[in-house]
Amino acid sequence: MTSAAQATRVLIRGGLVYDHDGDVHQPARADILIVGDRIERIGANLPPDGAQIVEAAGKLVAPGFVNAHYHSHDVMAKGLFEEMPFDIWTLHSNPANYGPRSQEEVRLRTLIGAAESLRNGITTIQDFLTLVPQDEATLDTVLAAYEEAGIRVVFAVAARDRAALDIAPFMLASLPEAVRKRIAGSDRKASDELDFVARQIKRRGIHPTPRQTWALAPSAPQRCSPELLEGIAALSRQHGLPVFTHVYETRIQAAAARKQGVDPSLLDVLARAGLMNERLNIVHGVWLTQSDIAQIVEAGARVVHNPISNLKLKSGVAPILDLNRAGVEIALGCDNYSCAETQNIFIAMRMLCLLPAVTNPEPGPITAAYALKAATISGARAVGLGDQIGALKPGMVADLMILKLDDPAFVPFNSAARQLVFSESGRAVETVLVGGRIVVRDGKLTTIDEAALRAEADTIAPVFRRDAKALAARNADLTAPLLDANREAWKVPLDIERYIGRRKD
Ligand SMILES: [Zn+2]
Repeated sequence: MTSAAQATRVLIRGGLVYDHDGDVHQPARADILIVGDRIERIGANLPPDGAQIVEAAGKLVAPGFVNAHYHSHDVMAKGLFEEMPFDIWTLHSNPANYGPRSQEEVRLRTLIGAAESLRNGITTIQDFLTLVPQDEATLDTVLAAYEEAGIRVVFAVAARDRAALDIAPFMLASLPEAVRKRIAGSDRKASDELDFVARQIKRRGIHPTPRQTWALAPSAPQRCSPELLEGIAALSRQHGLPVFTHVYETRIQAAAARKQGVDPSLLDVLARAGLMNERLNIVHGVWLTQSDIAQIVEAGARVVHNPISNLKLKSGVAPILDLNRAGVEIALGCDNYSCAETQNIFIAMRMLCLLPAVTNPEPGPITAAYALKAATISGARAVGLGDQIGALKPGMVADLMILKLDDPAFVPFNSAARQLVFSESGRAVETVLVGGRIVVRDGKLTTIDEAALRAEADTIAPVFRRDAKALAARNADLTAPLLDANREAWKVPLDIERYIGRRKD
């Protein structure tokens, strides 16, 4: 953080300033004075006093979005897959199946994801990264690329010590052992996973840069031993770090937990490890039951909703209305490129608002203004920065976007909240600031040469495509057994439904 004496000053002049607690349809016009990385004042006709002026007349100023769920490991897989249910997609996208990537590719993919995010008004990313190779050089390349882009990142190294696919309990007994082994993968040691994460936090510090902090990311309760989950819980307590973990993303995961019987509740597994608390973020939660939801409320944990990937991987529709009714706070994520193709919170907000209609025809509480809170202040709380970002208020860090109101999405301008959620797609985002620094101006990044990035992508993409093609060829004979297992899993009765109008024959 820069001291006020030498701090840069930016005055955003004359914009309509979106305030969660004000008129969300016709926000009041105001100036925003930023000193260093913080909003100093918001008010009418603030004196420039040597500040750099950003003219915002006829424009809307909104808090930057927090993307509370993202994995940067497969940016290069954008557009490669479709029509793959979850476990088949996992086989095709799991970074462990690709082997180590070059440092050039790691840097490039991190920059491409950060660039699209910033262009779409995302100022904070929670990157839940499977590092391959899991070494310090690769981690440093990723953090350096985020710093180069100028985006805020809450970084987590994905940890798992059980390699088996979630669908493994449903593989047919008749499957040859060799095929079963290929699907199972190789387990890792809990202590190796824990030591690596703990060492990196110590080596790089709790704030590797002013824009970077840490989170912890056990991949999923069923993919981690109790030892690994307990170790993560201890690190979370020690450093006060948020924890993200995939829970009940698919029907198969819920059915597998029931079938195995030992730990019928994945939330109980988390509770026994000491993870069910206010720092926990349940990612996806499509197949949560009412009692699971009550347990989340009791713990003060949150849910990160990823509507794009939930539908693209055919996982079903998350119980948003039930979660909201119970009082669970919901943040938003865009998930990874191989299963969502875009980092765009405008689309995630729109789906958050529209999907409840598949189960309930009554007017409900998931309004556009609610979606904007989910995308900003709820996301900020999820990543542990609730007192820093997510709202435009004096004292908050200046992470924000300025949108052109002459864009067709806002003509005529009837409601900031509704048009941000239902009309805008990212096209009107003109300027973006992260920590008071302008990182997008006139719709272009100031930190990265986007033409050079594209040229580099053209060079490196064929290498990744070649590897993806080779992997798909290796996986070809596994697809049918996995689809068979999928159908087996459907036979396990669950007392909840997350699809509608599904033919049962
Ligand atoms: Zn994920």
